[in-house]
Amino acid sequence: MGVAVSNFNFEKVREESRAKLRVTFTQRDGPGGTVAYANTSLTDLTIHFDEEESWSVGAVGGSVDLKSVATHEIGHILGLEHSQVEEVVMYATFSYGVTKKLAQDDIDGIGAKYST
Ligand SMILES: [Zn+2]
Repeated sequence: MGVAVSNFNFEKVREESRAKLRVTFTQRDGPGGTVAYANTSLTDLTIHFDEEESWSVGAVGGSVDLKSVATHEIGHILGLEHSQVEEVVMYATFSYGVTKKLAQDDIDGIGAKYST
């Protein structure tokens, strides 16, 4: 666990009807292109991962790091927009074979939205 940068907590619930945020893998546009997107409608908070991507946990050549992208999409769910800073989680695109951790720009973004 890292240092908390917001007061949000996430936990898995057994009953889908109790879930506020859903995660699903569906076909999108094949490898490359859009790897995931978040539906941020208040009645449907869902992160859609493209099941046709090669997903990894960690930096694996030719694959997209699931945790980095999930962090990015949760950022959208919480109301963050894309950053212009290429090194940060909220930058618009991800490269294969790399991981991203929250950078100061990401932390400042969430801090500006939700004061702790
Ligand atoms: Zn995005």
